[in-house]
Amino acid sequence: MTVPIARLAIEGGVPVRSVMLPYGHQLVTDDDVAAVAGALRSDWLTTGPLVARFEGDFAAFVGARHAVAVSSGTAALHAAAYAAGIGPGDEVIVPALTFVASANCVRYLGGTVVFADVRPDTLTLDPLDVARRITARTKAIVAVDFAGLPCELDDLLAMASASGAVLIEDAAHAVGATYRGRPVGSIAPLSTFSLHPVKQMTTGEGGVVTTASDAHAASMRRFRNHGIDLDARQRGDLGTWTYDVSDLGFNYRLTDVQSALGSSQLRRIPQWSIRRQEIAARYLAAFADLPSVELPATAGDRTSGWHLFVIRLRLERFTVDRAQVFRALRAENIGVNVHYVPVPWHSYYRQLGHRRGGWPVTEDAYERMITLPLWAGMTDQDVADVINAVRKVVVAYSRDGAVAR
Ligand SMILES: *Cc1c(COP(=O)(O)O)cnc(C)c1O
Repeated sequence: MTVPIARLAIEGGVPVRSVMLPYGHQLVTDDDVAAVAGALRSDWLTTGPLVARFEGDFAAFVGARHAVAVSSGTAALHAAAYAAGIGPGDEVIVPALTFVASANCVRYLGGTVVFADVRPDTLTLDPLDVARRITARTKAIVAVDFAGLPCELDDLLAMASASGAVLIEDAAHAVGATYRGRPVGSIAPLSTFSLHPVKQMTTGEGGVVTTASDAHAASMRRFRNHGIDLDARQRGDLGTWTYDVSDLGFNYRLTDVQSALGSSQLRRIPQWSIRRQEIAARYLAAFADLPSVELPATAGDRTSGWHLFVIRLRLERFTVDRAQVFRALRAENIGVNVHYVPVPWHSYYRQLGHRRGGWPVTEDAYERMITLPLWAGMTDQDVADVINAVRKVVVAYSRDGAVAR
């Protein structure tokens, strides 16, 4: 059967849609605006009661003993790495495939980043490669819930505890995800979240670390506030002016205005997670008959937060390279992206001695991957546009032009 092939927009045809669809976007409702307005009219714009309320809400949502709110996901990683006691001479295992902040947090504290490869199916940190790279100097393992799918938590926890290392779960992609029946954020000793607008929920900029440890929580609360033992509100309540700076901290505080937005956004995460799962299920079904597209893995023992929908092209079946497929989808007004350039490839890490070629799964995945738009506010028409554009471009550029597997 010959399927008539529509002319691609990049070759002068009509684009699938007329307005660019971003790969991720925040959802802000009237309730959120009202919550923020209320905070702006209150006595506390920062270090006030709404921060503690948001921390309580977040901790309850993920089933953690403590949630410590900070000014970004990067600050959350920095605080978690600090709580884990990382310092000069310590090695920390980090996946080569992640956002650069997962590795940078180690460098802020003078630690040595040891990049490990990811699994070919899930693109999460590969415990087999961690086993090859772990040493007596390994102080921590940073594991990323790539695209929202929880990493191999049980294996990594066992490996970390056997070698005296701390597992830090970078759950920036995984708000609302679950692993073996438990919510992400209640499992690792330290789990970090990002509240950037492209993530599942937002406070503009913001981050959270969850932990079961009273000591870790107290240390991170000092760390986010210059290393001061009492914050301004606690000093007011105690009627004292004195305080002690016990260690070098930062100003990584989340404001009450942002916290008001956080508590309001968090209420809609259950419904937004369902919408993300629905969209992912539609993509998985719509592309199942395209042999030239490798779809993201799912796993029976965990649910993904579906922050990203990352496909990998089977390039041997294409007449063009990944860059051309990417440009063609952009021309159809589908705001595709690529997550991520392998971290050790960046010049900062090359200057530290990392060389291309050490992480074959990461590097192969990077050459073939494209991130499709996925966010809770997408309409059914938006989803259909993505499906139509991907099929249009993939069919036009497939060697056999074939669709059926
Ligand atoms: C977004 C992200 C971060 C950093 O979060 P910010 O809030 O942007 O600082 C860290 N790790 C991963 C994997 C991320 O995707």
